[in-house]
Amino acid sequence: MVRAKPRQAAETRLKGVPLSPGVAIGRACFYVRQGAASVSPAATDPRREIQRLRNSLRWLARQRSVLAREAATRLSEKHAEIFEAHRLMLADEFFQSQLVQAIEEQGYSAEEAVEKELNRYQRQFAAADSEYLQQRGADISEIQQALLGYLRRVVSCRRCHEAVDCSIGQCRLGNDHILIGEEITASLPIETDAHTLGYIVDKAGPTSHAIILARALRCPVVGDIKHLPAAIPAEARILIDGDSGEVILNPSDETLGRYQAKLAGGRSGLRASEPVPGLQVMANIGQSGDVGDALAAGAEGVGLYRTEMELLVAGRLLGEQEQAARYSEVLRAMTGKPVCIRLLDLGSDKTAEWLETRLPETASGQRGAGLLLAHPELLRGQARAIARASGYGPIHVLYPMIVSVEQFIELRALFDAAVTDLHPVGLQHGVLFEVPAACLAAPQIMQVADFGCIGTNDLIQYLFAADRSCGDTVNKTCLETQPVLWNLIEQLSRAAVQAGKPMAICGEVAGNPAMTCRIIDAGITAISTSPAQIARVRQAAQDKCGSAPRS
Ligand code: PEP
Ligand code: MG
Repeated sequence: MVRAKPRQAAETRLKGVPLSPGVAIGRACFYVRQGAASVSPAATDPRREIQRLRNSLRWLARQRSVLAREAATRLSEKHAEIFEAHRLMLADEFFQSQLVQAIEEQGYSAEEAVEKELNRYQRQFAAADSEYLQQRGADISEIQQALLGYLRRVVSCRRCHEAVDCSIGQCRLGNDHILIGEEITASLPIETDAHTLGYIVDKAGPTSHAIILARALRCPVVGDIKHLPAAIPAEARILIDGDSGEVILNPSDETLGRYQAKLAGGRSGLRASEPVPGLQVMANIGQSGDVGDALAAGAEGVGLYRTEMELLVAGRLLGEQEQAARYSEVLRAMTGKPVCIRLLDLGSDKTAEWLETRLPETASGQRGAGLLLAHPELLRGQARAIARASGYGPIHVLYPMIVSVEQFIELRALFDAAVTDLHPVGLQHGVLFEVPAACLAAPQIMQVADFGCIGTNDLIQYLFAADRSCGDTVNKTCLETQPVLWNLIEQLSRAAVQAGKPMAICGEVAGNPAMTCRIIDAGITAISTSPAQIARVRQAAQDKCGSAPRS
């Protein structure tokens, strides 16, 4: 009898926001909290309630000391301070007295006192002007949840479709997995075992301690995935891409093939490498915090800073000062190496509900340059932020989704008008060639632009009518080698040479070591890719084509 081959579940893609970089693959594992009802009991005896409260505070302070030691051993004293701060707060006499007072004077139970008092603290943090302080509200929430968990005897555990109720930090089956939960707490990355390779969460602040620790542990995190846990089938195999914010359920063999190199890099995927002569290899970043990875990989600059990621991760538009602070951080860290700041490329797959409410054009398909022209106030704020940061190092301003020379000139004029009073230094203005119309106008555009960069992701999408958000990777891989694409890349390279201006390349093709020689042969000598790919691209340049440009 011929047995039918079991059908493989279809590949599905979910789009979230990248919170911690890296790529990992594993089984779905769900973070669950189970125990008594979440309703706080009415207080009966205040003395008993105070005793219960004190027990919970002592217990949590001890637990935070253990986490601080663990963080110091695995990471650094700086990371241990996160838990030490929790411990100090729990031991603080004023903090304790406020909780006790709430029990004595309001007749609260220990649970009610913790709930109401810590809600008050959280409201104060939420109202703070600084984003840093707002994010500290997450620490208060973590302390509150942990205390309530103790008082209500709630236990945290995790389960997958093969095993139920494994305790945190001990997967009974020893499977590599991706942990799925509504939120990620600071303690989770420290408490989980080496089989937890990544996290998918509904919400988490980019500067929350949980994300800082996940980044330090080189553990990818994707946030803003709605309807968790229902959005993920229990039996799913999951590939999580913390660089792009993509979650791929049941990846096909072709998808796995494409991610092979990144997955082989292990938990960090980062390897430092030395520059190779004749090829400048720079890093893509999405948030200022990623600059550490760029440095660790030995990048010769930041070749693509996808600044819209800062907004998507923050979940709101950022003010001029906030943007300037992020750009300055990147420039200072790069110590004089070039940083290519791309103007906001919002719209299409880079959108969110809050954004569509603020900028309805994003919902109707406008994107990048077109959206900036429709909303010059967006461009103005970002231009001024860039100008403010320009004293810290050389900035290349990259204009996304440009369709014509006129459009670039118009945007550039708006940029200049927005910054005249700030007297920016050393700004270069260039075009991202990713729309075929702009590629056809490259000779004219390169006369007025200071530099060019080829964005292969969108170029392939618009050249071959191949929607980049659909998972047909077989088709995509074969599009990367199409002569039409390479003819166009060569034409763009020639247009740059004729204008005497530099031309770089980014997008997935740029980070694929199998394409490195082709890129060099096309006369392109600057590549920008994710930090994890930098060593591989350099290796390919050295091994296969001796790195020096041949054209
Ligand atoms: C590209 O299109 O190749 C590119 C780099 O831009 P993004 O992937 O951010 O759209
Ligand atoms: Mg693009």
